[in-house]
Amino acid sequence: MWRGAVVRVLRGGGAGTLRSASGAASAQLRRLLENELEDIRGAGTWKSERIIASRQGPHLRLVGGGAKILNFCANNYLGLSSHPEVIRAAVEALEKFGAGLSSVRFICGTQSIHKDLEEKIARFHQREDAILYPSCFDANTGIFEALLTPEDAVLSDELNHASIIDGIRLCKANKYRYKHMDMQDLEAKLQDAQKHRLRLVATDGAFSMDGDIAPLREICQLAQKYDALVFIDECHATGFLGPTGRGTDELLGVMDKVTIINSTLGKALGGAAGGYTTGPRSLIDLLRQRSRPYLFSNSLPPAVVGCASKALDLLMESNAIAQSMAAKTQRFRSKMTAAGFTISGKDHPICPVMLGDARLAAVMAEDMLNRGIYVIGFSYPVVPKGKARIRVQISAVHSDEDIDHCVEAFTEVGRKHGAIP
Ligand code: PLP
Repeated sequence: MWRGAVVRVLRGGGAGTLRSASGAASAQLRRLLENELEDIRGAGTWKSERIIASRQGPHLRLVGGGAKILNFCANNYLGLSSHPEVIRAAVEALEKFGAGLSSVRFICGTQSIHKDLEEKIARFHQREDAILYPSCFDANTGIFEALLTPEDAVLSDELNHASIIDGIRLCKANKYRYKHMDMQDLEAKLQDAQKHRLRLVATDGAFSMDGDIAPLREICQLAQKYDALVFIDECHATGFLGPTGRGTDELLGVMDKVTIINSTLGKALGGAAGGYTTGPRSLIDLLRQRSRPYLFSNSLPPAVVGCASKALDLLMESNAIAQSMAAKTQRFRSKMTAAGFTISGKDHPICPVMLGDARLAAVMAEDMLNRGIYVIGFSYPVVPKGKARIRVQISAVHSDEDIDHCVEAFTEVGRKHGAIP
């Protein structure tokens, strides 16, 4: 009956003043939304979604599409999103622990598998403890407000991920934004921030648009000099950067100097969903008491916990998968450079093919898809004006032939559009 009333109101078929008031309001809302949507279309920043009819992996079938296409735009760095053991672990967890908890963690939403996964994450990163969140976006929006007060300061790289920016917005600490990876600017800001109680430097470990890696050694040295803490977001590093895939801190030899790590289970670690913070036990204890996305959002579903837990087991058993991804990244980067392209970043599976012009990036990405290769062009406002690019992401499950096929298609398309000689 209630549903019927709503349908009548939406169709304008109800009776009385309430109907006419909400009719006028909803007509106004529609007009405002249509204008806003038109602005987005007009600005050329409309994001359309391709609909996939198969599992995530190097070869995808699109709804309505014919043959499979080669996928080079997932964060599935280690190819674990459709790994048979990861899928089996999810099915087993689903059967044993159910579809979900219908509860936040502190009411009746904590199962043994949540505690086991938190312990495994802390062990993987060699930290004291860890706390799970529904996503890393939540981990980032939950940490700063819980940790920092108006007496404290947070110093953030200007190109940090949107979720760090939002998390910082929510906290009442004094905010400093330093120029991207600019250590002189960070030092100046740290000097200014000496007047505050705590100083926290926050940076992405690896930046997702450029595939560049934060200068963590230098950041940690400055943090030591100016008595600051270091926070890193490792979404594009966990599982594959560093000799055993622990991340940027391992790669740059500063595992003992970074205080807090936030990362995701939704990229290299099985790709299902979920995020976490790992660090000092007292910080994790505080987050369980104070962090709003943890306190007021549902527990991670067992199947998702099962996926991530198995992904970590696979990584802790062997780093063969991470090494295979590194070798393929190297193959792609060196062949593309030899073909005349400029690839931003260094040694990272995010390989931005720099093109400059937004239209060129869009038409080349479309032409790549016509050749069966799925890559995405990025332009302003996602990246700075004049720095449009096609972002290619390499996965351990791409074969050498897949990589070579992608480079050949880029070479053909690049020549056709004058991007390379
Ligand atoms: N931080 C960075 C650097 C990311 O790239 C992303 C995802 O795009 C997130 C945080 C959010 O991660 P999640 O998908 O787990 O919310």
